[in-house]
Amino acid sequence: MTIRFDNSYARLPDRFFVRQAPVPVAAPALIAVNEDLARRLGLDPAALASDPALLTGNRLPEGAEPIAQAYAGHQFGGWVPQLGDGRALLLGEVIAPDGARFDLALKGSGQTAFSRRGDGRAWVGPVIREYILSEAMSALGVPTTRALAAATTGETILREGPRPGAVLMRVASSHIRVGTFQYFAARQDRDALAALVAHVIARHYPQADRPLALMGAVMERQARLIARWMALGFIHGVMNTDNMAVSGETIDYGPCAFMDGYDPRKVYSSIDQFGRYAYGNQPNIALWNLAQFASCLLPLMGEEEPAIAALTGVLDGFPAIYEGEWLRLFRAKIGITTDDPGDGELIETLLTRMAAAGADFTRTFRGLGNGLAAAEFTDPAPFRAWERDWRARIAAEPDPWAVMAGANPAFIPRNHRVEEAIRAAVSGDLGPFRRLNRVLARPYEDQPGALDLALAPLPDEEVRRTFCGT
Ligand code: AMP
Ligand code: MG
Repeated sequence: MTIRFDNSYARLPDRFFVRQAPVPVAAPALIAVNEDLARRLGLDPAALASDPALLTGNRLPEGAEPIAQAYAGHQFGGWVPQLGDGRALLLGEVIAPDGARFDLALKGSGQTAFSRRGDGRAWVGPVIREYILSEAMSALGVPTTRALAAATTGETILREGPRPGAVLMRVASSHIRVGTFQYFAARQDRDALAALVAHVIARHYPQADRPLALMGAVMERQARLIARWMALGFIHGVMNTDNMAVSGETIDYGPCAFMDGYDPRKVYSSIDQFGRYAYGNQPNIALWNLAQFASCLLPLMGEEEPAIAALTGVLDGFPAIYEGEWLRLFRAKIGITTDDPGDGELIETLLTRMAAAGADFTRTFRGLGNGLAAAEFTDPAPFRAWERDWRARIAAEPDPWAVMAGANPAFIPRNHRVEEAIRAAVSGDLGPFRRLNRVLARPYEDQPGALDLALAPLPDEEVRRTFCGT
């Protein structure tokens, strides 16, 4: 199989990365190949599936130029001047048949110059988790990195205990992060920043003619992305600046989770002790990260005072774009496509009552379209009262039921189902993993054969903590 590579990042100056081949693993074996995505990239799925050595990095495809990318970042608000790919490698950029460019990367491919004390490896759990979650996000219509393939390594790695090793083959429109800009800004490397800005503009924002326009474009995509997360009850869990892609794709599926019961303060990640990355904080954190991005662009903007004012002006535009997109998405979730000044309050009232009842986020919204929402409330009276106002409001809507069916998924990757799939995979059964992927590929369709996967967890099934999976 030939892969059409054109590795533009590897042509940037040497200090952008360290050249590093994947460290071979003992015994590569296939977990899965994403056939639709393979075809999208112009690759033969059968050829990929028959070549697990390629999927773990034991064998490099012709034209690959593996590099570990350098970046820095704020982790939980604390500055870390050097992070970088410590357990991942960029193999190169694949040019799809339609000309679109995609990063092809391995995660879990062994130590690099940036591994610090880590082993550079991943285990089956986080690999399967990222596979399921990122593909579910894609099917839900959210910009995201994607999973092309996964393979086991035949090696045992040490985490809380011994775990089977695995490698994920990831596809992204790029892996350039806010932290990539921070890496060079912190080193006062103006030339590198200028080269990075030019690269990102050419690659992702060709309409932007200068750093200020790039700032605006990145801000806008990020605002829309976070609104989408919010409309699905998605909690990223580790929104460090090194985990924010400037392309506007969701990246880094570590301790992320879809909420079951609605609670705006919800946190799943075991390392997020103070709730910095709680569901309801996500828009503020995105804006905080964008402010870090803005400060990286300053040195490229000449006259300091007007530059600060101009960048601040762009950041000040975030709330309006975010809130506009949020309102549009949540209107659709309750079947509304027209504008009424009372809509925001109507939505907030429902959310407040859902929070008070701990109503399941996904099932309540899906239930609006099929008459089952009241069942998500232990005391349905407050919901019924809201429902009367809502029915009056949607009476004038052309087709609220179709709008809701397209905005409210029946299926999300429920944490307990993801963990169930991981447990089965570790004991050698890929059935639950495959079934989950199959069902989550069509999240907005009722699938009568998969009703169990649409259920909320029973109290003893509920997953309350998720882990980074490093
Ligand atoms: P993350 O929290 O996944 O965004 O990772 C933060 C940083 O830790 C990145 O620089 C990773 O490359 C690095 N890292 C995470 N896990 C490992 C590991 N097992 N080995 C080496 N580096 C790691
Ligand atoms: Mg990361």
